[in-house]
Amino acid sequence: MLKFIVITGGVLSGLGKGIAAASIGHLLSSRYKVIPIKCDGYLNVDPGTMNPTEHGEVFVLDDGGEVDMDFGHYERFLNITCKSKWNITMGKVFNEIREKERRGDYLGKTVQYVPHVTNLIKEKFFEIAKEEDAEIVLIEIGGTVGDMENELYLEAARQLKNDVGNDNVLYVHLTYVPIPFGANEQKSKPTQQSVHLLLQRGVQPNIIIGRCSEYLDDRIKEKIAQFCNIGKDAVITGLDVDDIYKIPIVFEQEGIVDIIGKNLNLEIPKDTSKWKSLVREKESAKDRVSIALCGKYTRLEDSYASVIEALNHCSANLGCKVDVKWVDTTDENKVEEQLKGVDGIIVPGGFGSRGAEGKIRAVRYARERNVPYLGLCFGLQLAVIEFARDVCGLENANSTEIDSKTAHPVVDILPEQKTVREKGGTMRLGAYTADVMEGSKVFYLYNSAKVSERHRHRYEVNPEYHKILEDKGLVFSGTSQNGKLVEFIELPSHDYFVATQAHPELKSKLEKPAPLFYGFVKACMK
Ligand code: GLN
Repeated sequence: MLKFIVITGGVLSGLGKGIAAASIGHLLSSRYKVIPIKCDGYLNVDPGTMNPTEHGEVFVLDDGGEVDMDFGHYERFLNITCKSKWNITMGKVFNEIREKERRGDYLGKTVQYVPHVTNLIKEKFFEIAKEEDAEIVLIEIGGTVGDMENELYLEAARQLKNDVGNDNVLYVHLTYVPIPFGANEQKSKPTQQSVHLLLQRGVQPNIIIGRCSEYLDDRIKEKIAQFCNIGKDAVITGLDVDDIYKIPIVFEQEGIVDIIGKNLNLEIPKDTSKWKSLVREKESAKDRVSIALCGKYTRLEDSYASVIEALNHCSANLGCKVDVKWVDTTDENKVEEQLKGVDGIIVPGGFGSRGAEGKIRAVRYARERNVPYLGLCFGLQLAVIEFARDVCGLENANSTEIDSKTAHPVVDILPEQKTVREKGGTMRLGAYTADVMEGSKVFYLYNSAKVSERHRHRYEVNPEYHKILEDKGLVFSGTSQNGKLVEFIELPSHDYFVATQAHPELKSKLEKPAPLFYGFVKACMK
């Protein structure tokens, strides 16, 4: 058995296609093996070379792939470990087409968008399905219908129907149903127009999800059904929610499971996962903590998506609402005042010098006042710099990433990175196992002496400074397996002062929050 579900978007970007796809996957994954594929239209090979404000957070997988942030939703909603191959980009597609052409694979032929590029895209769909023994392949096409850069994916998706037959492919289209001020009623026109664009491309949707601030009423469902050639029960509300984990619950209530089942001849059981009760617990949480997230990117939600989700997971499991307070560190003199009254401080991953001094100030604030601190990657490096300067007395200690001429390079480039010239996909990437010191806080939190987390960095704590840092009381509670690279640090004298060179937020799940976040939020609650 092999079924395909293709998810396209219309009207606007940012309607939550990734979450819609992940939610559908969630509902199907209790019975079936669901494999998600994301198709991106850009010519970058992967999003690793883009600024997070361009394309949201760069999500890193176990295998070291830097992929679209939607893979974060897929992993969190489907409880799977994704592979970088499942993120198809036009950069990858055209690379391959060029290689094949030079090799002579198309000898004698004119290499064309259709059929050569579309065939290559479809081959990838089938190849992944086969490799993974998938029962359902969920294909999310990036962008909105009508975008030039996604036309080839849409064409490939259209052709799928002929290749696998009517019963084996289902098209879902996500659109927007506005309620304009003054008119005060749900409007279907944008959806109609978007579906027309899709029909021009030969794709008839089977399900339409209308994103709306309220449940779609009967009248609008009928109207959309009539204009878009589908049954009324195949029009589903994509409700605005305060918590994305409610989306699968909304979809299920709206009957999406029955429609999918009917179209694809599948038996889909009701969702009985722990999920629903966790969502309820999160909603009814009585306690509240305020956590400062220190960074320089202003589009907070997307740039630090996984950090925010990891906090959400703790919220559900600890029965405590987490208010994330955005602290802009670009003006270092304005950091302390923004931190007043927060229950905990996070310095997440980051690059370059802008905002770095402000983040160091935030670390100092946390250390001196015993405010719980969690440092993630750059947040570990900056905590080491702060400790070197203010505790070890190493004046102007720094990372060579920030100040290449610093007198005390306590954070320096990894030896194997020194010869790296190309920027794309060359950091220390993916899952690495660390040895954790027994008896440390990190050991206690993971309940294990071996910990595997994902990485994305070029710098490390300079081994030449290990001794002086340790002598002054900084505990290296985890190192790489050869013992050389510092993976975890902590200050035992503090309630919670823990940092890691890794990105534990990437593997956090609603049912199983990342241990370092869990311990951190718990400390913030005290
Ligand atoms: N800029 C730092 C490095 O490359 C930290 C990277 C990060 O926080 N992901 O090592």
